[in-house]
Order: sequence, then structure tokens, then C-alpha cells
Amino acid sequence: MSKILVLGTRNAKKRQEICEILGDLGWQLQDLSQWPGTPEVDEDGGTFEENARKKAVEVALALKQWTLGEDSGLVVPGLGGRPGVLSARYAGKQGDDEANNNRLLAELAPLPGDHRAAYYVCTAALADPDGKVHAVVEGRCHGVIIKERRGAGGFGYDPLFLIPEYHKTFGELSPRVKQALSHRARALAKLRPKLRDLQG
Ligand code: IMP
Repeated sequence: MSKILVLGTRNAKKRQEICEILGDLGWQLQDLSQWPGTPEVDEDGGTFEENARKKAVEVALALKQWTLGEDSGLVVPGLGGRPGVLSARYAGKQGDDEANNNRLLAELAPLPGDHRAAYYVCTAALADPDGKVHAVVEGRCHGVIIKERRGAGGFGYDPLFLIPEYHKTFGELSPRVKQALSHRARALAKLRPKLRDLQG
């Protein structure tokens, strides 16, 4: 029988992307809506890796299930690495994409154009039902923050995140193209052999 893998995130768009990337491996992918009462994980780590490990281990121990913890965000070197691990709550309120994008635009506005380079990071950790971490992987995707939103696809900072090779933002590119290029796809591709071996 196929094993259950709990996706330890409450972000529905992220969950959907993870399911599309890992859905063919034979694991039963479940999300936290199927496990009501799972304690909230306090994302207080200073790095993406700390938060990914924390999400994986705490949820795995609470549910006694294999768990994938994922932490991701946008890094702008010209802003000293911000929003970084605070990406989801950059403007204050958790998950307010509109306000986060406004703050990003306001902070970049006075800076020269060459300060608009940015990259997304995704770190994912895989923990077993006893909370032991079996793998930690990272993926990155490089782009540029433009001055006005373009496109309605994706989520978070995607309407401002331009992929120069395509002359389009992640908000404009199709989900298929985002899945081929994204930080999340690159990180999870590294986890596929491990997940395949564990499924046996
Ligand atoms: P987390 O849930 O703490 O990992 O926060 C992730 C945050 O980083 C999201 O709320 C977005 O603001 C940003 N982010 C991560 N991945 C993406 C992406 O693929 N597109 C756009 N924004 C992203």
C-alpha cells in the first residue's frame, strides 16, 4: 500500500504546486485540511532551512506521519536580503500579498535599477513519523523585480517577478512554465529519488 506524505503547509497555492510536482510518485499526498487540529508551527527560524526542518519535524511528530516541510521566500540582495524568511508577512499581516508587494515596490523605488535583481528560494525537509529528518533540499530561481504588477497567475510576489529569458513575470507565464523553472520545482526535483526509494 502506498505511504502517506503530509504536506505541512496551509498555503493552498503552494500545496497545489507541490502536488503537481510530486503527484506521480505513488505517495498519497495529503494536506493539513485532512488533519484538523494539527498544531500551528511558529516560523521563528532565522533561515529557510530552520523553518523547513521545524515544519517537517513538528508536524511529523504531531501526526505520526511522513511529512514534507517547505519554507520559501524572495531574496533581494539590493535590500540586504529582505524580505527573506519574512516574505509571507513582510508588510505585517501574514499572507497579505497585496501589501507585501506594495512594500517591496516602495523600498525599491529610490534605488538604482541594478538593485532590482532578486531570487526565490525554496527549502524542503522530509521527516519520518518519528521526527527524524531524512533529506533537506534547496532550489533557487533568479529574476528581476519590475515596477508594476503584470499578470494574475501564481501567488505572492509573482506579478512583480520577471524571468528575463521569457520577458514575462511568473504572474504572466503559464503554470506549466512556472513548474519547469521555479525554485519549488528545482528543490523538489532533488527529493524525487529519495521519495521513490522510500516508497519501495
Ligand atoms: P512561507 O509560507 O513562510 O514559506 O512563506 C512563503 C512566502 O514567500 C509566500 O507567502 C510568498 O510571499 C513568498 N513566495 C514563496 N514562494 C513563492 C512563489 O512561488 N511565488 C510567489 N511568492 C512566493
